Amino acid sequence: MATRPSPVSVRRSQDLAWLARRVVAIGILVGAPIIATTWLRDGPHDPWVRWGYPPLGAILLVFGWILLRRPAWAMYTAIAILLALEAGWVAVAVGRIDEAPDPMSAWSSMMPTPLLGVVVCLIVGFLFQRTRTALLHGSAYAVVITVAMAVAFARQPGGGEFVWQSVRYGIYLGVFLVLLLVLSRAKEHVTSAVEEAARADAAASLMRDMAYLDELTGIANRRRLIEELGYQLGRLSPSQPVGLLYFDLDHFKHVNDTRGHDLGDQVLRLVAQITRGHLRPGDLLARLGGEEFVVVAPGTDHAQAVRLAERLRHALPGELEVALGFRVTASFGVTDLRADDSAVSALRRVDGYMYRAKADGRDKVSTQSA
Ligand code: GH3
Ligand code: MG
Ligand code: MG
Repeated sequence: MATRPSPVSVRRSQDLAWLARRVVAIGILVGAPIIATTWLRDGPHDPWVRWGYPPLGAILLVFGWILLRRPAWAMYTAIAILLALEAGWVAVAVGRIDEAPDPMSAWSSMMPTPLLGVVVCLIVGFLFQRTRTALLHGSAYAVVITVAMAVAFARQPGGGEFVWQSVRYGIYLGVFLVLLLVLSRAKEHVTSAVEEAARADAAASLMRDMAYLDELTGIANRRRLIEELGYQLGRLSPSQPVGLLYFDLDHFKHVNDTRGHDLGDQVLRLVAQITRGHLRPGDLLARLGGEEFVVVAPGTDHAQAVRLAERLRHALPGELEVALGFRVTASFGVTDLRADDSAVSALRRVDGYMYRAKADGRDKVSTQSA
C-alpha cells in the first residue's frame, strides 16, 4: 500500500528545503562584499570585472531575496540563473585566455574566481536539482568548460602545456562531482530518514489519539478519564482537593427521536465545546459514553465544584439555544475525590448523585450533602 507523506513529514522536508535556501541566501550575503571589493580593486584595470561584476552582484542579491521572500519561485529562478552564470563563466574563461598576452598570464588570470565560479555552479546545481539531473548537468558543464578552455589555450602560441592543465582541471571537476554525488545521496538518505521518523511520529500520535480521545467530540474518553483519576488519586492531599462532576443530558433520547441522530451528535459536540469553555487549563473533560460527561477539576474544593456545576447547568441550555434554537438541560452529580477512593468507586458515587438529580426532577445539581 502506498503511504502518503503525513503533514508532519511534509513539514519536516519543507524545513530542510527552507534551511537549504537560507544557507544559499547567507552565502550570497557573505559573497556580496567580496564581489564589491573585487570590483573596487580590480575593476579599474580589468574590464571583465568592471562590466561583469555589477550585474553578477545584482542578480545574486535578487536571487537571495527570492530565496527568502518568494520561495515558490526559487527552483526555476535558480536553474535560470545557473544556466546564465554557466554560459557567462565559459565566455569569461575563453575571453580571458584569448586576450591574455601569453598562456601563463592567461592561466593566472583564471585564478581563483573563474575556476572557483565553476565549482560554485556545480554545488548550486546539486542544491536545486534532483541528484541525477544535477550529475548529468554538472558533467556536461564540466566537459563544456574544460573543452572550451583547452581549445582556447590550443589557439595560443605555446599553450600546449595549459591544454593539459585544463584537462587536469576537468578531471578535478569530475572528482568533485563524485564527491557532490556522495553528499547528495547522503542528504537524500537523511531526508527520507527524517520523513520516515516524522511518519512514525504521526502514526504514534494518531494511535495515542485513538486510544485516548472520544471520536465524536474530540475530548478525553473513558480510558483517559480512568487514567487521570488514578493519577489525581495518587497525588491527592488536603491542600490539593480534586472536584469530580458527572452530568447526563436530560431527555436526550427525545432530542434524537424528534430532531434526528445527526443533530443529536451536534448537540454532544456543542456540549463538549461549551463545557470546555468554562473549565480551567488543568481540568479534564471526558465523555464516558452516550450523553454522559465527567469533569475532573484538580485544585477545586467541594464548594467550588458545586459552583462550577451550577454554572454549567445554567450555561449549557442557554448556549445550546443560541447555537441550535432549542434548549437541552443536564443533571449533575458532584463529589470530591477521597483518599480511600479508586477511580471506579469515585465514579460510582458521583453517578449515584447524578441519578438523584434525575430523580429530583432533572436540571439539578446533587451532592453528598444534599
Ligand atoms: P434521561 O433524562 O433520563 O437521561 O433521559 P435520556 O433520554 O437522556 O436518557 P437515556 O439513557 O434513556 O438515553 C440516552 C440516549 O442518548 C440514547 C441514545 O439515543 C442517545 N445517544 C447515546 N449515544 C449517542 C450518540 O453518540 N449520538 C447521539 N446522537 N445520541 C446518542
Ligand atoms: Mg440522559
Ligand atoms: Mg445517559
